[in-house]
Amino acid sequence: MIVRKTTRELDKMRAAGRVVAEVLMLLSDAAKPGVTTRHLDGLAERHIRTRGAMPTFKGYRGFPASLCISVNEQVVHGIPGDRTLKDGDIVSIDCGATLDGYIGDSAITLAIGEVKPELRELMRVTEASLYSGISAALVGNRLHDISAAVQSTIEPYGYGIVRDYCGHGVGRQLHEEPQVPNYGVPDTGPRLKSGWCLAIEPMVNLGTHQTETLSDGWTVVTADRRASAHFEHSIAITDDGPVILTDRRGL
Ligand code: MG
Ligand code: MG
Repeated sequence: MIVRKTTRELDKMRAAGRVVAEVLMLLSDAAKPGVTTRHLDGLAERHIRTRGAMPTFKGYRGFPASLCISVNEQVVHGIPGDRTLKDGDIVSIDCGATLDGYIGDSAITLAIGEVKPELRELMRVTEASLYSGISAALVGNRLHDISAAVQSTIEPYGYGIVRDYCGHGVGRQLHEEPQVPNYGVPDTGPRLKSGWCLAIEPMVNLGTHQTETLSDGWTVVTADRRASAHFEHSIAITDDGPVILTDRRGL
């Protein structure tokens, strides 16, 4: 069942989303060459708890940290640790925060220092595909209109769209129905309704779309070890159009 949130619940979703947006703003400044991914995780957890929220990912199915940090060929679910960020890396930072029982979920990919043009382009197109998907999140559209909008933004570039993982409903649970794939046939799937909250999250690879999971049981990497980018927002579908719950603009 796909849960429709009430106006009061949407206010709580917005408050949780704001905490996540603040964390990602903070980390955009802090992620520099020489910094460990564990340091970033600590900054995030401290900020989340300062706001009276909980790091949603910590302990989720046994995940050991507050953030997923995925560098270069890592697609998603990277575990923060001793790895030091280097000039030329691209790093995906995925953050979840639970406030007053409701969850915000958002991810960005950051360039560390001077990054190759082909990686900058991959990041730009991935982020653009997220906003294409959000633009299609309109009452009366169908679910896969979002998927198709994401796909059609990426495909001209020949990148691999990850299929093994996708977006999802979000609310009191991190992963609610429906699944939101990053590829699909327009005008298919359930009709979008006001009050639905979705995490839309294209994961896009320079090469093959295929992925593997490392022996830590979490870190997902590209099968060809070429780079991957990831952007995500939690959004609410409303009668007035999509609202980005994890918007960083204006913070
Ligand atoms: Mg996420
Ligand atoms: Mg998500």
